[in-house]
Amino acid sequence: MAGFIFDQNPLFLPPLPTPTAPIHLLDLAAQHAAIQPELDAALQQVLRQAAFIQGPAVGEFAQELGAYLGGAQVIPCGNGTDALQLALMSLRLPAGAEVIVPAFTYVATMEAVAILGLRPVCADVLPDTFNLDPAAVAAAITPRTGAIIAVHLFGQCADLTALTALARQHQLALIEDNAQAIGATWQLTEGKAAFAGTVGEVGTTSFFPSKNLGALGDGGALFTRDAARATYLRQLANHGQTRKYYHEHIGLNSRLDTLQAAVLQVKLRHLPVWTAARQRGAAHYDEALGAVPGVQLPVRDPRSTHVFHQYTVTVEAGQRDALQAFLREQGVPSVVYYPVPTHLQPAYQYLGYQAGQFPVAEALCRTVLSLPIHPSLMPEQQGYIAAAVRAFFAGRSS
Ligand SMILES: *Cc1c(COP(=O)(O)O)cnc(C)c1O
Repeated sequence: MAGFIFDQNPLFLPPLPTPTAPIHLLDLAAQHAAIQPELDAALQQVLRQAAFIQGPAVGEFAQELGAYLGGAQVIPCGNGTDALQLALMSLRLPAGAEVIVPAFTYVATMEAVAILGLRPVCADVLPDTFNLDPAAVAAAITPRTGAIIAVHLFGQCADLTALTALARQHQLALIEDNAQAIGATWQLTEGKAAFAGTVGEVGTTSFFPSKNLGALGDGGALFTRDAARATYLRQLANHGQTRKYYHEHIGLNSRLDTLQAAVLQVKLRHLPVWTAARQRGAAHYDEALGAVPGVQLPVRDPRSTHVFHQYTVTVEAGQRDALQAFLREQGVPSVVYYPVPTHLQPAYQYLGYQAGQFPVAEALCRTVLSLPIHPSLMPEQQGYIAAAVRAFFAGRSS
């Protein structure tokens, strides 16, 4: 592992410590090995019961997740993108209505809007938290706006206080895309916090395997506190049927498999411990990287807890790609979430956006880097990763 840093600077840099085990971005095999007997029992039970669609585990999991989220109604569905589409369908917006989405998010947030014949309207994000800028949202509201989709990016809540106030003031629906922040909370008022995804009219999440609560395949869910909307969403997710073969709405075939629900029941019991491990990992990185010039650590909003779906730093202008390449050489994987802002994705050129319109999102696409943060990451591996980051910048400044 002779990195070019040592060639440049052979006298001053000690060799990096050797990691005890290969570093992965995500270690689902280790996670599953730790809970193997529970998973095996759950899978065997589904095989024995043989009710693979809408079997008992689906309703049980919905109940358990709702209880975990402070009593929200949970409607399971096929994946997180469908959850967004179903949330929008439940609003019954007129064709062509505008829906405000962040310019910096996973594309699914915008895709769900566009596929329904609604118009995505991008708004810029804040440079510190990477989440929707309420002032930019306010400026994007027109008489045609029907909804705002807030994304709780990387595990931390968007400003739900400001966005809820804006939504109320303009009579818009607030949808929370909570695919990345399950279990995070937002301080609504002094002494009153709510779980991410349960504040707006509808919340959505994804159980894609790499999410904090991940299935062994695709899965998703919606959250709402409104019983009538919950019933409607349940119908929409199952061909719009009110009872078998009676279809009152045009819906989707978007159900959570019983097998996935059974796996998620097991994993939900471990989620608090895994979240705490992510938070400890983030604190460890903060300490180890805090003094590195050239790296801006993830900024916490004091009103939100952060469940660290990603630990995302921003890197000094022009250095991000070189840092990523250096880390790769040292055996440290990292990812750029996301390299292209939503408004400049080729599929969305019809919206007429230009480069330069959302400068914060565009700058983030050039500077962000997500470091490994999964619950099985060991402190000595994190020490190695931090040493590699420091070595890169030490080499640059010499
Ligand atoms: C993962 C993700 C989605 C989509 O979820 P799928 O289950 O993959 O469809 C939507 N929004 C955000 C912010 C995500 O991270």
